[in-house]
Amino acid sequence: MYIGDVQDIFFVNRRYEKEKIMAKKLKLKMIPLGGLNEIGKNITAFEIGGEILVVDCGMAFPEDGMFGVDCVIPDMTYLINNKDKVKGVVITHGHEDHIGSIAYLLRSVNVPVYGTRLACGLIEQKLKEHGILSVAKLNRVKAGDTAKIGKNISVEFIRVNHSISDAVGMAIKTPVGTVVHTGDFKIDCTPIEGNMIDLARFGELGKQGVLALMSDSTNVERAGYTMSERTVGETFETLFKGTRSRIFVATFASNVDRVQQVINAAVRNRRKVAVSGRSMVNIIDVASTLGYLKIPEGTMIPIEDVKKYQDHQLVIITTGSQGEPMSALTRMAFSDHKKVEIGKGDLVIISASPIPGNEKTVSNVINELYRKGAEVVHSALTEVHVSGHACREELKIIMGLVKPKYFVPVHGESRHLRRHAMLAEEMGIPRKNIFKLENGSVLEFTADSAKVTGNVQAGDLLVDGYGVGDVGNIVLRDRKHLAEDGIIMVVMAINGKTHKMSAEPEVITRGFIYMRDNEGLMEEMKRIVTIALQDTLISKNRDWNTIKYNVKNALGSYIYEGTHRKPMILPVIMDV
Ligand SMILES: [Zn+2]
Ligand SMILES: [Zn+2]
Repeated sequence: MYIGDVQDIFFVNRRYEKEKIMAKKLKLKMIPLGGLNEIGKNITAFEIGGEILVVDCGMAFPEDGMFGVDCVIPDMTYLINNKDKVKGVVITHGHEDHIGSIAYLLRSVNVPVYGTRLACGLIEQKLKEHGILSVAKLNRVKAGDTAKIGKNISVEFIRVNHSISDAVGMAIKTPVGTVVHTGDFKIDCTPIEGNMIDLARFGELGKQGVLALMSDSTNVERAGYTMSERTVGETFETLFKGTRSRIFVATFASNVDRVQQVINAAVRNRRKVAVSGRSMVNIIDVASTLGYLKIPEGTMIPIEDVKKYQDHQLVIITTGSQGEPMSALTRMAFSDHKKVEIGKGDLVIISASPIPGNEKTVSNVINELYRKGAEVVHSALTEVHVSGHACREELKIIMGLVKPKYFVPVHGESRHLRRHAMLAEEMGIPRKNIFKLENGSVLEFTADSAKVTGNVQAGDLLVDGYGVGDVGNIVLRDRKHLAEDGIIMVVMAINGKTHKMSAEPEVITRGFIYMRDNEGLMEEMKRIVTIALQDTLISKNRDWNTIKYNVKNALGSYIYEGTHRKPMILPVIMDV
């Protein structure tokens, strides 16, 4: 008995020692697959001992020039090629740039997903749309919980503040060390829903020793602190009290706390609330079902019913704070909305600031609203918006509490990552310990070293309708060409045996010139085509590719000389 116990302890010790030696040999790879040097599609893989953990799985909005593209998702080839290694996905919060691609990943790599209740609620809706909800494995966690993922990784969720409730940062614990990932965060001492960010926990982790910190870089260019969400509520209250007009509030659907404040102000000022915009309706539905939105009974009315109420009894919450062409606000402004039109005397509050690149479209909507006689209040005029991301002083606090050995700025364009790297240096982290990575970089850690050891495939996959990735550079180039210069189709009827024209060539154009007003040019184009065609048909080289090439060249140069335009020319040959 006694000897057995000693033997047990001996074996346990030996196993423990062996594990410790094994752990020393393990390496932890951090591989960002999106979200760096760009805004959107945040996703990072952590790999250790043949197992992969994925943090977030977001999408990005298409950039200018991505004609017809609905959204952009990260190239997840690396995960798909290593699908047996992937053990789980953990989600920081329910924003599109963190959950928007999850259905695309789960379709190929169906692993358990861990997220807070609100994030899971929003993910569920996406999976339902993609028809894969029944096979997905969603696990609801809360701040303070730890999830064990695979043999080597456990993830502790830490409460943070952000512009959506139930956001978390993470401590990713591995045998090599702990990596702290802030997720999107700010420090809000008076949040609308839930509690203040768990700074104490970040501090404790820092005391225990943190190998690396990945931190949100969005607002690194702004000095000081981000204001509390609550300040927006005070502005709403003043604005609501001061008018008897209809009030429209446009904001991000995902900003549940903002929506709550609109509802609060509406209730206090005895106004009913109607909602317009599909994503707004969806998110309000999920958030109120899960208890993140508290709406007193009798507050909400269907959008169809707004006509039954007087102006001073109404608030309409809508999407379109970014001036998106198809959004409810834009359609209401341009009289293209079936149920509501914004007009004289209405008060429109745009409770968001334009995402870089959207300034022009937002400005167009504001101009149109003024033209219609509405009053517009936006973030440049009054405090109707605060950011959900930490400013410099908050970033310093987190860095100071976590005291990481290595630092990796994330969630930002190149300029943000660079500034955040500089901030880390100011905070005393040696330059050699700061890594400004690219999407696809592999940063490899041991307990006391870190270096970039290579890279994996990463980039953009464009989604258009049901197609994922089938719109590439060549298709985009064509779309751009068509959009800018239009197309000319040349239809030629040729007898394949006699090599003679069977009919006059036809020229059809779209997006080039209006044909009826340019009959002379049309005739000239036909003449040029006929000459090029006849010349080729009597030459030795008269295969169809040569014919097409010669016709295209002749017509192209003629058009360019006469108009300085370069439309796409598409020759078609019919053998008749
Ligand atoms: Zn976010
Ligand atoms: Zn984000």
